Formats: sequence, C-alpha cells, structure tokens
Amino acid sequence: MGTGDKEPRPPVRMCVRCEVTTETPVVVAVVHQNTGPGFVVYACQACAAHYPPQPNVLTGLRPSGQAEDER
Ligand SMILES: [Zn+2]
Repeated sequence: MGTGDKEPRPPVRMCVRCEVTTETPVVVAVVHQNTGPGFVVYACQACAAHYPPQPNVLTGLRPSGQAEDER
C-alpha cells in the first residue's frame, strides 16, 4: 500500500543558452507558429540576464494620431 510515493517534481527546464537544466527557468522568448501551438524558450537565471526583456505585446500598436478625420 504505497500511496505516498509520488513527489511533486519541480519544473525543470533546459536552458537554451548553456543547455543546463535549471530548477528556476526564466521565460526568455515565446515562439508562435502558424501551424500549431508555439513553444516557450527557457533560460537559467544567469543566462536570462543576457536576453533582452520581453516586448510588451499588450501595448497598443496604433500610433496616436493627432488628426482623426472620421466621416
Ligand atoms: Zn543558462
């Protein structure tokens, strides 16, 4: 009767830069594909500092037009 054998595994990911598995992965990029679901690129804490920050996709892409002629 062993029911308590399952231990919650920490989310271990492989760093895309140094290819070392890390228990504290940092999302450095999210690749979107048209043919299927995208994948997330992880990096370790040390390598994540070398990656540029994620672009904020929530910001509006519309430039603030001063003159809006709406007819
Ligand atoms: Zn790394």
